Amino acid sequence: MGIVTAAETGSAIFTFDNTYARELEGYYVPWTPATVPEPQLVKVNAGLARELGLDAGALAAAEGINILAGNSVPVGATPIAQAYAGHQFGQFSPQLGDGRALLLGEIIDRHGQRRDIAFKGSGPTPFSRRGDGKCTLGAALREYLIGEAMAALGIPTTRSLAVVSTGETIRRDRPLPGAVLTRVAASHLRVGTFEFFAAHQGPEAVRKLADYAIRRHYPELAEADRPYLELLKAVADRQAELVARWLGVGFIHGVMNTDNMTISGETIDYGPCAFIEAYHPRTVFSSIDASGRYAYGQQAAIARWNLARLAESLLPLIDADTERAVAAATEVLDAFPEQHGACWLSVMRAKLGLSADTVDAAGDRALTDDFLTLLQHGRIDFTQAFRALYDLARGNTEASSRLFPPAEFAAWRQRWQTRQPERSETALAAMRGANPCYIPRNHRVEAALDAAVDGGDLQPFERLLAVVEQPFDERAADAEFAEPAPPEVTACYQTFCGT
Ligand code: AMP
Ligand code: MG
Repeated sequence: MGIVTAAETGSAIFTFDNTYARELEGYYVPWTPATVPEPQLVKVNAGLARELGLDAGALAAAEGINILAGNSVPVGATPIAQAYAGHQFGQFSPQLGDGRALLLGEIIDRHGQRRDIAFKGSGPTPFSRRGDGKCTLGAALREYLIGEAMAALGIPTTRSLAVVSTGETIRRDRPLPGAVLTRVAASHLRVGTFEFFAAHQGPEAVRKLADYAIRRHYPELAEADRPYLELLKAVADRQAELVARWLGVGFIHGVMNTDNMTISGETIDYGPCAFIEAYHPRTVFSSIDASGRYAYGQQAAIARWNLARLAESLLPLIDADTERAVAAATEVLDAFPEQHGACWLSVMRAKLGLSADTVDAAGDRALTDDFLTLLQHGRIDFTQAFRALYDLARGNTEASSRLFPPAEFAAWRQRWQTRQPERSETALAAMRGANPCYIPRNHRVEAALDAAVDGGDLQPFERLLAVVEQPFDERAADAEFAEPAPPEVTACYQTFCGT
């Protein structure tokens, strides 16, 4: 199926080795990116290009831009639209798939890791349903910015290699400039990929996919006694850790549908995501999440719910006896809350600068919970509050005196100091590395995107990007980027599923 129309170019910016296309025929539709009228490079990620062993200069030259726009298919690429399904807000959609994305191919990076090179916004595919297959410039820049911020915060994530504007006008609630984003991922295997083949083709198709996932992400499981149960466990491990890391930086994914949960454990799909400001576990910014299903404090429970959908897809492979399969999978799912809780505690201990060698997990949990309650009651900014604790650990009381209500804080501080009276320089450095000064503040993100989209001015985007790429070094010149949005802005802030 599909037609290849774009000209293949002769040079090799990428050295592709496309295992998905080669080993999983029938799991995708070969397809070709749409041609766009006027491609212009908006941003190329030189640091990521280096990591991938690519020549950023070549990407930014005319031929590179043509490739990044989808106007020319590079040598060795096998562009495909991947099939997947997914539970969206709890409802099963049997056919989603790459409706505005294409996997161009895979390359091996400088560390020997296999990475997908994929487009977002490269035109309609057989999976587009009623969509136009396009991506707006604003949505592409948002994904770029927040993904890079997450990477700088040390959180597993897909990343952006480039954004090219297309010269097209896209119809959304208003006409907007179009763009193609080049996304880099450990793979694009999702929980929803498993659901698609479980729903449409049955256990042998799922087995082939699971074997591929094991080869690609968990090769150590190939020889396990029960490799598919182990696969479920391995994905649960990664997700337990990932969500704990999100919570540690106040990240709200916003649309944790099963098609937006990776098998690799990377964060994927920066649509309506946003960072929490004043702490409240029920915080939601997404305009389409009226019920708060994907609120900040719900994310671990949702990860487990999504893992249950993965488990269902794997059941026939886990054990031929359904009852035994269900029992084994249930054990994994039942262990998840505690497993995630342990990851969360370790993230929070790092943030509070507590040594991990104590056995008093319950005490540390209570200490953390009480700090969060203090933030919640005082509507205190999450990021600033934790950074203030780092300052305090260094002997600087300025931020904590400004942020915290004195009486309540004094009592908590006493407990905190009793728990950890002293810290070495190494421990202080670790605490600093767990408490960023700068996150992509919602109002800054919006301002940067507005300037880029409405005024063609990329300077605010570049400035904000530079700030969030160095999240842990406090810089006087960037002080305003550490400030939360005015409360009236946060109160009305809504994010949209950028398409
Ligand atoms: P998302 O909510 O971004 O994870 O996307 C959910 C599904 O909708 C995926 O199958 C996407 O490919 C599809 N989709 C989203 N936006 C568009 C669009 N503009 N055109 C075609 N398909 C889209
Ligand atoms: Mg998605």
